[in-house]
Amino acid sequence: MSEYQGIVARKALEKIKPYVPGKPLEEVERELGITNAIKMASNENPLGPSPKAVGATQKSLAKLHIYPDGACHNLTQKLVEHLKIGAEQIFIGNGSDSAIKLLGETFINPGDNAIMATPSFSEYDFSVKLMGGESKEIPCVDFKHDLASMLQAIDEKTKMVFICNPNNPTGTIITRQEIDDFMARVPENILVVFDEAYYEYVSDPQFVTGLEYIKKGYKNVIVLRTFSKIYGLAALRVGYAVADANLISWLKRAMLPFDVNTLAQVGATAALDDKEHVEKSKNVNEAGKKYLYEKFSAMGLTYTETETNFIWVKINQDCRKVFQAMLREGIIIRTGDIFGFNEYIRVTIGTPEQNERFINTLTKVVENIKK
Ligand code: PMP
Repeated sequence: MSEYQGIVARKALEKIKPYVPGKPLEEVERELGITNAIKMASNENPLGPSPKAVGATQKSLAKLHIYPDGACHNLTQKLVEHLKIGAEQIFIGNGSDSAIKLLGETFINPGDNAIMATPSFSEYDFSVKLMGGESKEIPCVDFKHDLASMLQAIDEKTKMVFICNPNNPTGTIITRQEIDDFMARVPENILVVFDEAYYEYVSDPQFVTGLEYIKKGYKNVIVLRTFSKIYGLAALRVGYAVADANLISWLKRAMLPFDVNTLAQVGATAALDDKEHVEKSKNVNEAGKKYLYEKFSAMGLTYTETETNFIWVKINQDCRKVFQAMLREGIIIRTGDIFGFNEYIRVTIGTPEQNERFINTLTKVVENIKK
């Protein structure tokens, strides 16, 4: 299995299944011969990128022959202002995916383990297994992280605990009280990773960012954020990590040089200043959430209340069938089976028009499957 023509791949790779991305829009349009497909599968910003970011990247096009700034100086300085944290505490990567992979490359030796929730974001498991480590997946309770069981799962081989807050695919958060209790008990030699990819969408006042713990002096906390969601820059691939300076310096040892391209750096720097775009994106998301909640309830479907830009919905039938039928109508959603839940879907909250088309199509599809 791990051998090709007598060339042997690392054993750790046998346990890795390649990431299955949401189906690309262009592919669906090509296959169906249509031009108006919509993607509600990958939690992108339906309003598009920040216009300020687009303007800034356009200005940089003439400099594509020059390597990017390997230290990401301007973006780092912008984040220093934005987060009120030291420059040496920031790592900027090629998407937060790259930071997740680096965490495994920096800390996991074969036989080590990391603890994570299930269902949750798949890349934690990838990062650990890639390095020959073991993932301890702790089932969510009511689709929320079960922090008490995650704590109990820590053993002498544990290096880190991944906390996806808010969680993908369920949209749930862990509260300040729960994190306070967790942080009071977790040993200092366990790295606590708060993945806050959807942080900007949260409105529940019980939420707390891991940054607060870093600022209080916890040296075993790292926070991951991204420009792929509310800032609308998924195609640029840029995200960041914040932690103690020493921890960040270890991550930087394992990083690739020039990993964050120039367009990503200037786009992200401009997007951080575009408060109007962030505000508008959040408002559109809140209105879309309310609309979708009402419609799901009217359809008799249960959903998990979300603090993100997507909703986890129980559709009471085979999600693959619903996915295929929606796809034929030009709407791409995410199926729950990839997270181990066959009767669930995850749908990204769209523009009002997209949400309406999604609901009308889903109603039709569900009726047809019942017949
Ligand atoms: N964390 C979570 C929870 C995510 O949902 C995603 C993207 N789907 C990422 C990290 C990775 O984001 P990116 O690499 O685009 O920054």
